[in-house]
Amino acid sequence: MIPEVILEEQGLRDGLQTLKTIVPTEKKLAWIVQLVEAGLRRIQVASFVHPRLVPQMADAEAIFQQLPQRDDVVYSALVLNQKGVERAIAAGARHLAISLSASDTHSQKNTRMTLEEAKADFRVNVQLARAHGIRVRAGIQCAFGCRYEGAISPQRVLDLVKHHLDAGADEIALADSTGMAHPVQMRHLVRQALDLCGAVPLALHLHNTENKGLANLLAAYEVGVRQFDTAFGGLGGCPFIPGATGNIATEDTVHFFRQMGVETGIDLERVAAISREVEALTGAQLSGALYKLPPLLPTS
Ligand code: ZN
Repeated sequence: MIPEVILEEQGLRDGLQTLKTIVPTEKKLAWIVQLVEAGLRRIQVASFVHPRLVPQMADAEAIFQQLPQRDDVVYSALVLNQKGVERAIAAGARHLAISLSASDTHSQKNTRMTLEEAKADFRVNVQLARAHGIRVRAGIQCAFGCRYEGAISPQRVLDLVKHHLDAGADEIALADSTGMAHPVQMRHLVRQALDLCGAVPLALHLHNTENKGLANLLAAYEVGVRQFDTAFGGLGGCPFIPGATGNIATEDTVHFFRQMGVETGIDLERVAAISREVEALTGAQLSGALYKLPPLLPTS
């Protein structure tokens, strides 16, 4: 069956970067193999950021060197600056996530740049990546609210969508980095963003900080979004956002869609096995629900 929605697994990047325990490269690679076997066709496997700032991502090059060679899987990496793009090019990355924050305050804390500075920097990085044949997913963090600034003007977000499209983005991603979005806001903003995007795919990156992740996902699905970021066990969170917690859990999202008759092409038990390993490794329960439950009974 052809999947009707695409889930991009973020557990290895957004998820693991929040853990103090450094996961060995071999273990990450084993999880990548498991995720591919589970049916994931988009996996963010690393970020090319300074290893001192994010020690968990210090093995980005080693990961790219040893990825399972699959034509049908998109392996992406996150980059924050030109140095990151250069490292990603050298490592042979074919797909990069490059983003900026709709909130000036978050932008300054995360990158030490104002939004205007970040926009100029973003364009340079996108051009560099595209000149090397790399596809770029252009993201907007804090698109639905900021812990420092509160509400973010929808017009500001839509202007950034236009900015990203003009810069040559192959895809746009709106991130609810703070988990502040609600379904009515989601429906409204996403509908307008989809209009601007036209044939360019629009993805959503949702955090479940206020327990509204799946409600927001459904609202976005109902107005036409077909691509979502999720993380095994619901791991994740930005270190520069107070109280930030995990992404929506891959297993929970697969189950949620399946119950509604929407196919993701993903075997949730295989993903849940990874979440249980992470739990054993860290000694702490993750926020996802499904991986804690016994295997689901067949529904038909
Ligand atoms: Zn995130």
